[in-house]
Amino acid sequence: MILIDGAFGEGGGQILRSSLTLSVITGKPVAIQNIRANRRKPGLQPQHLKSVEAAASISNARLTGNQLSSTELTFEPSRIHSGEYRFDIGTAGSTSLVLQTVFLPLSLAADSSKVTITGGTHVPWSPSFHYLELQWLPKMQRLGFDAELKMEEAGFYPKGGGKIVAEIHPAENISGLVRLDRGELKKLFGISAYANLKRQVAERQLNQAKEILANRGFEPIIEIRKLSSPGINTMMLILGVFEHSLCCYFSLGARGKPAEKVATEAANQFLAFMNTSGVFDEYLADQILLPLALTNQTSEFRVPKITQHLLTNSEVIRQFTEASITIDGELGEEGLVKVVGQMRT
Ligand code: ATP
Repeated sequence: MILIDGAFGEGGGQILRSSLTLSVITGKPVAIQNIRANRRKPGLQPQHLKSVEAAASISNARLTGNQLSSTELTFEPSRIHSGEYRFDIGTAGSTSLVLQTVFLPLSLAADSSKVTITGGTHVPWSPSFHYLELQWLPKMQRLGFDAELKMEEAGFYPKGGGKIVAEIHPAENISGLVRLDRGELKKLFGISAYANLKRQVAERQLNQAKEILANRGFEPIIEIRKLSSPGINTMMLILGVFEHSLCCYFSLGARGKPAEKVATEAANQFLAFMNTSGVFDEYLADQILLPLALTNQTSEFRVPKITQHLLTNSEVIRQFTEASITIDGELGEEGLVKVVGQMRT
């Protein structure tokens, strides 16, 4: 049994989710201790418990410690089963993170699967649905994964109630990726989204983002989108389309947070990225490591910032596979990532 210390590095939910994904794919049982030890409320929270249950149901896994707040878990998978799955997080916990836990194993199954997840689609500290749709999924498709994704309802903190549906088909050949240069900025898109608020709020976000970006010489095309949701919120997203890659940053509204602040946060993240030689945003960097480790190819890319998530995820991958991952640079600085993918057989 592989033993994972959930307290190392970032010490958050990603150690758990990556371990589950890799355990299902490799068939290696895993015991995880000190789950989310570095978080204010350690242990399994609803989103994490749902990730455990989701990974268990696609692989008929035997479990111990699968209760709310548990800080220890053992997970013994059997074979991966494709099928139709429904996972209800029950809170505004991130649907994206539950999806990412089962996406790779289901992509490696012999038949297609349909996965419906309810919970939060736009919640802090996780990829929003639009991030998955515009950045993560297109990149996964470029690597050889085959899936469609749609959002039926948006879910925000605290109410949740969002719904996403993923159709996941068997991946044929997963390839690596070499991106040392993002090339010229071809287009700059934005989405100012709102749910159950006045359209004016989204207009204020749009105007603010436009002004900040125009002051720095950019000409963004920003659209307003009204989202169907049981909750109330806004989002400002900026998508940079370069010759060889994309970057995607967003910010979410909150009670008492002015629309201008939401827009400024999103625009500033994009501007900070432009001051680096990163090829895509730092979030994709940690999310793409695992699929790249599953290839038998060498991948190389520049990141705008070396994050603790990136370092921690690479360590989890090393525990399960023979992939070699090297990250040149300092935490918080730009860096170069090299992944020599190789599954231990
Ligand atoms: P915890 O509650 O333990 O912090 P968590 O389960 O929410 O954990 P983390 O371990 O913090 O998970 O991992 C969060 C994941 O969400 C990472 O893969 C990170 O790249 C991604 N993420 C966070 N913010 C963004 C963002 N703004 N855009 C895209 N992805 C994001």
